[in-house]
Amino acid sequence: MTGKVYLVGAGPGDPELLTLKALKLLKSADVVLHDDLIGPEILAFIPSSTRVQNVGKRFGRKGISQQEINGLLVQNALLGLQVVRLKGGDPLIFGRAGEEIEALRAAHIEFEIVPGVTAALGAAARAQIPLTHRQVASTLVLVTGHHAGADEFADWPAKIPTDATVVVYMPGHDYRSTAEQLRRAGVPEATACAVISQATSPDEQVHVTTVGELPQSPLLPSPTLLVVGEVVRLAKPAALRQDFAWYSGRTEISLTAQERAE
Ligand code: SAH
Repeated sequence: MTGKVYLVGAGPGDPELLTLKALKLLKSADVVLHDDLIGPEILAFIPSSTRVQNVGKRFGRKGISQQEINGLLVQNALLGLQVVRLKGGDPLIFGRAGEEIEALRAAHIEFEIVPGVTAALGAAARAQIPLTHRQVASTLVLVTGHHAGADEFADWPAKIPTDATVVVYMPGHDYRSTAEQLRRAGVPEATACAVISQATSPDEQVHVTTVGELPQSPLLPSPTLLVVGEVVRLAKPAALRQDFAWYSGRTEISLTAQERAE
């Protein structure tokens, strides 16, 4: 009997953001192959009898290739095992799921995809940023920076719509070129922008700025992502929130005394 492969999203970090389905599969799998970004609290759900392998490759360190990972998925399934391929966030967003799906189909291995909370959603929730907004943001664009693992990135859209919220995954630490890339895609310098580090973990940090000032931002610990767009003016911390009322013209913004002091 051939086994089955589950491509499972582990969410952005907080173990309570795992789905019940992911948790159930982690407890029942024969083999778990996981990425670097999966934290120890989530790995702790896996019974000690289960075979667990980190197949992640951090930027700059040569690790296991995507082709080898595909091979491991297929081989384990052919042995009749239940295999969980555990990925950070959601498996279908910047997670190379496409290549794994192709390899599994080619080998006629049964598989199932279990969604997870992608980092953009975890980060936005914690920074209290609405990613869409009736007055200023009707489009959501997810892009990757070009600094981290430069082998898999498509070009950015030539022109990002003015009413878009853009989330940049893997922005790297070269904020100057990310700001330049945003400008080239038509994003005005005055656009609000947040660097969100280790979202949903106890060490989360949020730095609110503008695209023009982004290069002067502090370098926050990985993983980080950028949220760019006028909706960032509604973020906590409230650094730019005062400006939102005049921008939208309609939304009433009230800051608490403490927020005003921030
Ligand atoms: N499949 C994942 C993304 C993988 S790419 C998902 O859906 O979230 C890895 C990138 O995701 C990181 O470089 C970073 O930009 C972002 N990321 C993942 N977890 C994050 C977190 N907890 N906080 C901030 N960014 C995160």
